[in-house]
Parts: sequence; C-alpha cells; structure tokens
Amino acid sequence: MTHKITLIPGDGVGPEIAQATRRVIDASGVNIEWEVVEAGEALIPRYGTPLPEHVLDSIRRNRVALKGPITTPVGGGFRSVNVTLRQELNLYANVRPARTLPGIVTRYQNVDLVVVRENTEDLYAGIEHRVGPDAAESIKIITRQASERIARFAFELARKQGRKKVTAVHKANIMKLTDGLFLECARQVAREYPDIVFEDMIVDAMCMKLVQAPENYDVLVLPNLYGDIVSDLCAGLVGGLGVAPGANIGTGAAVFEPVHGSAPKHAGKNRINPLAMILSGIMMLQHLGEDEAANRIYEAVLAVLREGKALTYDLGGNAGTSEMADAIISKMLA
Ligand code: NAD
Repeated sequence: MTHKITLIPGDGVGPEIAQATRRVIDASGVNIEWEVVEAGEALIPRYGTPLPEHVLDSIRRNRVALKGPITTPVGGGFRSVNVTLRQELNLYANVRPARTLPGIVTRYQNVDLVVVRENTEDLYAGIEHRVGPDAAESIKIITRQASERIARFAFELARKQGRKKVTAVHKANIMKLTDGLFLECARQVAREYPDIVFEDMIVDAMCMKLVQAPENYDVLVLPNLYGDIVSDLCAGLVGGLGVAPGANIGTGAAVFEPVHGSAPKHAGKNRINPLAMILSGIMMLQHLGEDEAANRIYEAVLAVLREGKALTYDLGGNAGTSEMADAIISKMLA
C-alpha cells in the first residue's frame, strides 16, 4: 500500500532534518508518496501569509503530515504557523513520548512515559487583554468537551500501547473551577477503563516526583499550559530537544513533528541532531499501521546509539546530520 503524506520541511534547520528523515523512512521499505509543501515566513511575499490555504488542503486531503520546525518571528502581524495549524485542523491532542535511549548520558534510567497534552484551550489559547496601563488579564477556559476528549485519548493510548497507568495532572486545589472541571472529567472517563490504574497529581508535586523518580510514571494527561512545561521537563529527563519527538493528533488529521524549533544559528551547517524528527517519523509510521517499518528504523537508531560512532554534537559526537542518517540507513540495510 502506498501512503500519500504531506511533508513540510519548515525553515532554519528544518530542511536538513526533513531530508535526513525522508531518506531514513524511504530506506525502511515503506511505500510513501511525499507531497512536499512549504510554509513559513519566506512565503509571505508570494502568498501574503506564512500558511497558505493549499498547505492546509494538502494535510486535510492526505490526513497525515510530517513537519519540520518553523520560525515564529517575534512581533509582526502573523500568528505562529504551528499554533494556527493546530487550531485550523483541530489537532486536539499533543503526544510527546519520553524514553531512555542507549548511549545517551542522562541522570536517569528506565524512563518510558508519554505526555498527553490538551492542545486547544486553557491559558495557552492566549486570550489576554490589558486592564488599564498597569494590569493585564488572561482568561483560562476549560471545557467538559475538551477535557473528556483528551482524557479518553490518554486512556485509549494507554490501552493501545499496553501501558498500565494514567496520571491526571492539575492544580485543582487552587483553580477549583477550571482545573477542578478537568479533574472531574478525567475521573469520570477513568471509570470506563477499569483495566488501567488512574491517579491524579498536583502539578508542582508532579514536577518534583518526575525529577526524583520518573520511572514511576507511564501516561500523563494535562491541560495545555502544564502540558507545555512538563513535556519539556520530560524531554530533559531523556537527553533533551535533539531526541524529543511529538505528534499533534485530531479526528481528521495528524501532524508529526519534533518538539524543538528551527534553531536558526545551526541552519545550513549539517550539524543538528535529526533524531527528534526521525523518532517523530517512527510515530507517524505507527499511526499509519506500518509497525514493521517503524520497528526497523527504531532498531537501527538504537544500534547507532549503542555503537556511539555517528553521533551529533549534542550527544557528544562530531557526526553531521546527514552522516547520522547514513549510519541509521546502513544499519537497516545490514
Ligand atoms: P530551538 O528548539 O529552535 O533551539 C534551541 C537550542 O536547542 C538550539 O540553539 C540548539 O542548541 C538546541 N537544539 C534544538 N534542536 C536541536 C537538535 N535537533 N539537535 C541539537 N541541538 C538542538 O528553540 P528556539 O531557539 O527558542 O526557537 C527557534 C525558533 O523556532 C523560534 O522562532 C520558535 O518560535 C520556533 N519554534 C518552532 C517550533 C515548531 O515549529 N514546532 C517549536 C519550537 C520553537
């Protein structure tokens, strides 16, 4: 079967890691027809927007996209392409696995957890205004519909991946109405999944426990803002941005992308670690039901990490982006 997939290389280091990832995925034997579309600031002179309608149409048509990072200019009249994509396509679940990898030196071992972050509301929606010259107000909206939907997504993911526990993270002791509603919905949904252990944890305690004993956690489900912060903490537990993959999933479409940004100072230097995007590509293949190809790439990645020869600078090596991709491809073909 051939899958038609939208590929958005992005800008900054995006095109380099997108090219590396595409080569690795193609070498896995899976049949993919890539529909390459550009997005980002460079398109503004031609289309008047960094996210032209044909990009959204391509994702709606193909239902799956692999995306490189895109720079969000500070100031200016345009919203972040990344945030707009999530909103336009209603990609309500942000999924960020954090798993210990061999050969990557960190303070922790045996971390294997998944952060499921609600992607559409909460303070992160950025509904703010100034109240006179010396005050500002931000509105936190939490709805039953979005909270139940993300809780159900987390439990379904746990079941599908054979995971044992879901932890709902909140601050309902203080935000009794908003986070209180989020927690109430998580508890209610948990009753439908008696096979999975459910617990809840206040977000500050969660941060402490994650840095003390991350191996105790399995699936975390969080409102948008806590999810944003805690998922970066979790990336730090297993080796940082260079190895942190992610997915934004909705009912009609799914966009897979590394957690990191466009790292402009490294652009065009063949220097950046392609693993975050390659691991995002593996998540995409699993989403497509191409588990064999996904496993083949994952095993090759593990072999390269164990060998420790073709590693990028952030992992203590001096290989370039394309050399690391070549090493993964050689392991697959060996
Ligand atoms: P960044 O993630 O681009 O980079 C910060 C630093 O982390 C880099 O300078 C580099 O030292 C390191 N790093 C990041 N990715 C790495 C990798 N794969 N390998 C090795 N080292 C890596 O964060 P930033 O500099 O804050 O953001 C740059 C731009 O990217 C901004 O415009 C921001 O808005 C945008 N951004 C986009 C996305 C996205 O497209 N989804 C996500 C985050 C940030």
